[in-house]
Amino acid sequence: MKNEMPRLPYPTNGLEPVISSETIEYHYGKHLQTYVTNLLNLTKGTEYEQKEIEEIVATAPNGGIFNNAGQVLNHTLYFLQFNTPRQNNAPSGKLAELITRDFGSFEEFQKQMESAAVSLFGSGWAWLSVDKEGKLQITQESNAGNPLRQGNKPLMCIDVWEHAYYIDYRNRRADHVKQLWEIIDWAAVADRL
Ligand code: MN
Repeated sequence: MKNEMPRLPYPTNGLEPVISSETIEYHYGKHLQTYVTNLLNLTKGTEYEQKEIEEIVATAPNGGIFNNAGQVLNHTLYFLQFNTPRQNNAPSGKLAELITRDFGSFEEFQKQMESAAVSLFGSGWAWLSVDKEGKLQITQESNAGNPLRQGNKPLMCIDVWEHAYYIDYRNRRADHVKQLWEIIDWAAVADRL
């Protein structure tokens, strides 16, 4: 993956009413664009300039390059995991089997993922990732954190920085998180396994 803006697989109003086009315009169009621009500026002429974004996130020391690379990768995974809202939206195939094996049921997984997102103090991300043994894990990461830092492969994420939900949900983070289940593109998530 390169340090550049991902192309959205839906129009800016394609996630409504879960995420408004106004939020997409700010979150994707301004916040993510700023992280991409900052990272290009910070890496220019450094050893990181030609590196894949995943490698920068996994190896850069804490600081500006890591923060911006993390936010570019996190938001790319975030925006590309969504699709048009659907009722009773759920994973299938191998991913569904792994979720049942490691969390007991899809409903229990949803409960734990929501809890990780809602209870995270301050800005950060709730992640579903897979560890080196192939086991699924839910973790909380502050700020620009990504499971790659612990050697896990990131599969799905919930952004709980206020910019992700404040336009549409104001302070109601839990309501926002619950609505997100309607727009997860489980085929896109499963492709990351
Ligand atoms: Mn964000």
